[in-house]
Amino acid sequence: MSALVMTTAIPTNELRGTLRQDEPMARHTSWRAGGSAKVFYQPADIKDLIVFLRSLSANEPLYWVGLGSNLLVRDGGLNGTVIATSNNLNRLEFLDNHQVRAEVGVASPKLARETAKQGLSGLEFLCGIPGTLGGALALNAGALGSEMWQRVVSVETINRQGQLQHRTPADYQISYRHVEGPAEEWFVAATLQLEPGESSASLELIKGYLARRSATQPTQLPNAGSVFRNPPGDYAARLIETCGLKNTCVGGACVSEKHANFIINTGTATAGDIEALIERVANTVKREHGIALVREVHIVGGGRDD
Ligand SMILES: Cc1cc2nc3c(=O)[nH]c(=O)nc-3n(C[C@H](O)[C@H](O)[C@H](O)COP(=O)(O)OP(=O)(O)OC[C@H]3O[C@@H](n4cnc5c(N)ncnc54)[C@H](O)[C@@H]3O)c2cc1C
Repeated sequence: MSALVMTTAIPTNELRGTLRQDEPMARHTSWRAGGSAKVFYQPADIKDLIVFLRSLSANEPLYWVGLGSNLLVRDGGLNGTVIATSNNLNRLEFLDNHQVRAEVGVASPKLARETAKQGLSGLEFLCGIPGTLGGALALNAGALGSEMWQRVVSVETINRQGQLQHRTPADYQISYRHVEGPAEEWFVAATLQLEPGESSASLELIKGYLARRSATQPTQLPNAGSVFRNPPGDYAARLIETCGLKNTCVGGACVSEKHANFIINTGTATAGDIEALIERVANTVKREHGIALVREVHIVGGGRDD
């Protein structure tokens, strides 16, 4: 299902992206907490990313970040290199047959709006998911009964040798908020299938979705969306709320009053506070309801990634 698409004639003498050392990841995660990355690189474009990857040693630990809206970086930080896609890998092209090709740094809400404006329907659900297309592909992001991979025709990936591949959904195991594919390959772009629609109807739908979100989610305070996946046939928020955990805090991290599956940073939370609260919530739900909640947010750094 895969095809090697580009490996030749790339200048290797110069990097055009932004390279930083000891970059605080609190600047790049929506929880606004956590340690620093030893090396942080924002590639200028895909060609520049290829050059950068080829400059790394074979065993350099690599981390990918979009808008960090589903990510907790432990206070001990990341002893490796972070590739940040959100600023520059942001080309968006409208193709024939109601398809779009987007690079992974395009923000999901932008993708929802721009496609709606063109009279293309199918991605409206992304309007309130504050990450990048890359994060939405990695996690099969979804809302309102729709999921990212329902729209994927193909993806373009890159490996640590800087080789690009075209892949199809058949190359991945895709389920609720979970995607498993070839090891050590990351997304750089995707082609998505949409349907002809009415621009005004799609934009109206988006307006309604956003109004509903701000009524039910703590959108004013740093958070990472739903912390746990919904267990089959139930809601994590309902299980957490019925344990009386709303407003429970560890340090500056608290279970939101507005939505029990959200943990907010009230201003002083460390990643340690957030992780301790996540564990407390999971343990309490297990004890009270006998259900082992599965985390939706990814936790990395401090010497162990999961
Ligand atoms: C207020 C709020 C509401 C939310 N609502 C929803 C919702 O309704 N539905 C939902 O599904 N999610 C929701 N989320 C969670 C989050 O926004 C989504 O999961 C989003 O898709 C993550 O994208 P990101 O760019 O921020 O990913 P990041 O947090 O930056 O990364 C998440 C994971 O994806 C990996 N990743 C990122 N880019 C790539 C890439 N190019 N290739 C390979 N791996 C990559 C990272 O390594 C990491 O493991 C919400 C979050 C917030 C803060």
